Amino acid sequence: MNKVTNPDLPLPTPRSHDADELAASILEKLIYQVGKDTIVAKPHDWLRAVILAIRDRVTDKWMESTRKTYEAGSKRVYYLSLEFLIGRLLRDAISNLEMIDAINKALAKLDVNLVEIAGLEPDAALGNGGLGRLAACFMESMATVDVPAYGYGIRYVNGLFRQEIADGWQVELPENWLAHGNPWEFHRRESTYEINFGGKVDIIEEGGKEPRYVWKPAERMMAEAYDTPVVGWRAKRVNTLRLWSADAIDPILLDKFNAGDHIGALQESTKAETLTRVLYPADANPAGQELRLRQEYFFSSASLQDILRRHKQQFGDLSNLPEKVAIHLNDTHPAIAVIEMMRLLIDIHDIAFDEAWDMTVKTFAYTNHTLLPEALETWPVPLFERLFPRHMQLIYQINAKILLEARKQKGATDEAIRQISLIDEGGERRVRMGNIAFLGSHSINGVSALHTELMKETVFYNLHRIHPDRINNKTNGITPRRWLKECNPGLTRLIRDVIGDEFLDDTEKLKALDAFAEDSSFQERFDAVKRENKARLSNLIGERLGTRIDPSAIFDIQIKRIHEYKRQLLNIIEAVALYDQIRSHPEMDWVPRVKLFAGKAAPSYHNAKLIIKLANDVARVINSDPAVRGLLKIVFIPNYNVSTAEVMIPAADLSEQISTAGMEASGTGNMKFAINGALTIGTLDGANVEMRDWIGAENMVIFGMTAEEVEAARADGYNPRELIEGSKELSQALSAISSGVFSHDDPGRYADLIGGIYDHDWFMVAADFDAYAAAQRQVDAIWNDRTAWNVKAIRNTARMGWFSSDRAIREYARDIWGAL
Ligand SMILES: *Cc1c(COP(=O)(O)O)cnc(C)c1O
Repeated sequence: MNKVTNPDLPLPTPRSHDADELAASILEKLIYQVGKDTIVAKPHDWLRAVILAIRDRVTDKWMESTRKTYEAGSKRVYYLSLEFLIGRLLRDAISNLEMIDAINKALAKLDVNLVEIAGLEPDAALGNGGLGRLAACFMESMATVDVPAYGYGIRYVNGLFRQEIADGWQVELPENWLAHGNPWEFHRRESTYEINFGGKVDIIEEGGKEPRYVWKPAERMMAEAYDTPVVGWRAKRVNTLRLWSADAIDPILLDKFNAGDHIGALQESTKAETLTRVLYPADANPAGQELRLRQEYFFSSASLQDILRRHKQQFGDLSNLPEKVAIHLNDTHPAIAVIEMMRLLIDIHDIAFDEAWDMTVKTFAYTNHTLLPEALETWPVPLFERLFPRHMQLIYQINAKILLEARKQKGATDEAIRQISLIDEGGERRVRMGNIAFLGSHSINGVSALHTELMKETVFYNLHRIHPDRINNKTNGITPRRWLKECNPGLTRLIRDVIGDEFLDDTEKLKALDAFAEDSSFQERFDAVKRENKARLSNLIGERLGTRIDPSAIFDIQIKRIHEYKRQLLNIIEAVALYDQIRSHPEMDWVPRVKLFAGKAAPSYHNAKLIIKLANDVARVINSDPAVRGLLKIVFIPNYNVSTAEVMIPAADLSEQISTAGMEASGTGNMKFAINGALTIGTLDGANVEMRDWIGAENMVIFGMTAEEVEAARADGYNPRELIEGSKELSQALSAISSGVFSHDDPGRYADLIGGIYDHDWFMVAADFDAYAAAQRQVDAIWNDRTAWNVKAIRNTARMGWFSSDRAIREYARDIWGAL
């Protein structure tokens, strides 16, 4: 028998956290693991040695945490996410181990520069945007609040593409984050599972018994585990991020099946490796290709097999699965896990259908991230049937059960029944992943109060009526370690100086800063920190782009995925209007402003890519016009990622959160800015609504239509043309762009983009323009009263504590997972 733990064998003495011993460890790693002499070691070698030495210290805590969970028989949380946008890990690990002083002393002794080597660590971009970053913040917070958890995802060889800007256009290049290896991970060659696709299902009838279904797959491959330990604040606990990589079945085994077909074996191996090669670069849009569906099943199946194996090994059988296991679906991407669980319970573990369904629903929970109807995942039935013949049978069987029960309900109309079905029968028949995730879960949560209410009224209207107890809200959060303490050491030092250390363990303790908001000497110090952060960003931009920006101007920043609903276009059009105004009224006292943009567009998203080109075209014209020199500047910073966000956010005066109301589920960028003392200009959308409740409306600049007004306008046949003609500033700015003022080389470049605003303006750019422009002048007025500005900025930092992902995770653990 394999023993999971042997309490008679104690863990080794933990590695020392003392600076001298750390220096000795780093040196030892350099020599014996990297295999380099100090006289030839390159910065990359030192980075590897440092990571390995730090990883040892993390591993000590990891062993301890794992033992503790096992011995206490605690419930484990499994967070399934197709994306984990974790960024760099070294600074996070050092900070959470509280080894900053030790590492600085150790590296000083070794004559190695920490900043230099830390900057070489690749930014692990295994995600597109907010959804993936949320998963990363949640991993850190689960460790911090001591929830035993595993994150499960895919180890993409190529993460999100690297963006370059060439002549103003986005160019996508492969991001090879594993080029120098990944010293953080442990390759678990022993933790492999077989993953199957295609083929057929045999039915085995034995007299008197339920028939058995045996899946005879056409394709077989292996999932291999790679583990990265994730350390919580003050090393309270270390959890596991387990990422799966696809591989061909061991050739020796394959030979047995393929009767020595070596070419066949080779093809299989390429096919397997292709599966986990790339992350789909679409954000808030389903990728729709077969490979994506295969990825979804691949990692769901591997994770479930792993979960059931671990549970059986510890508890003997599966009868107490829902008491000891909580499985969370981060969006519908892993929704097929619900069906895979049914298959494993019924076909492999011999559990009856009704009992298996009951166990599944008690175990699963699902987070919805978008209401955009075009973003709800569905798959054609024939494709699903071809890849997963057994799962398709189970879907029909589950659907029959669900529809039968639904029909028994009072007032169940045919339309309501059609809406809750797992299969969309209108037109080409499609499997609805949202309905599978909803019906297979005991909890369905939205990510902000507004989004959750809209979920009940729109996408899940009928499902909510049948299961009114299932939908609940869990407003998103961000980890204050990465997004305050590590990215803004100056502000952190100042806060500690004034209110002490408590906020480091309980972010809501930042409230104590409120008492200093009116204190002029504190205001000066707060302002000085912002100035330093702005100078740091200016220098970076000078080095990277050769553009000079003045740290005394307002830094007005919009960084996020480029998407029409996020309305970078509204921001650019306002910049053009402001440019006109400054030139027409040079005598006025304009507030100097730098508008900074960064963000990637999905490679197939034509308008989003055109918006990037427009930002760059407008920047070129404005930045070279002496008439606005020192007053207005536009900068587009290429290759937005976690590390870029970490330098830009602490330097922001103004945070642009201007999505069309009702379309941004939560936003988390909004939270990162506000906690770092930026004022928000924003719509009443997503978590902005709750931020206003916490921060106070007087400390933000809210403008524009509400979600209800947007819906009403759309329903009433909204006429943008009329509105545009009524606004002189807007019509001038739109004509300038569409007539080629910013694109002499191709005057018609923006005709269609701007034409869309005249024609339908789905994202209400015209409807919100005047309110937005007025709000920007209100920002200028506040800026001119520096005391007023600083008071508001301080109140933002003081009142954002609730938006910590620790709070969010405590709510999940208590209300959804039963794990605290
Ligand atoms: C926080 C974050 C996001 C999400 O930003 P939103 O403004 O909420 O869309 C996206 N990408 C990165 C790198 C982030 O850090």
